[in-house]
Amino acid sequence: MELNIYAYKCKRCGQLHYPYKTICKKCGDNDHNEFDIVALPKNGKLLTYTILYNPPSDFEVAALYLGIVELEGGMRITGQLDIKNPKTGMKVAGKVEVVRKDGYKKHLGMVFYQV
Ligand SMILES: [Zn+2]
Repeated sequence: MELNIYAYKCKRCGQLHYPYKTICKKCGDNDHNEFDIVALPKNGKLLTYTILYNPPSDFEVAALYLGIVELEGGMRITGQLDIKNPKTGMKVAGKVEVVRKDGYKKHLGMVFYQV
């Protein structure tokens, strides 16, 4: 089964939120906390990135590439990049994967690949 990260969509105006907010950032509606849970889009555009050469030891990569991606629909999220030569503005596709292992605990996150 394909893994997803979920966002909260305002029932009144359609604005997506991630992480969860109790008040819609667009229309300010919070009367009933009415949000639909929808899967976050996975494709988008790389806005900026940075490379950590000494990531914490529980990340199983030599260097950690972190990017901020604008997803289809305009939401921005931080994710790991599995791209050797990232370029600002490039198109990327995301997959939800295990990004960190902490003993037996596995942490999922979005990993972006070049399209
Ligand atoms: Zn709203």
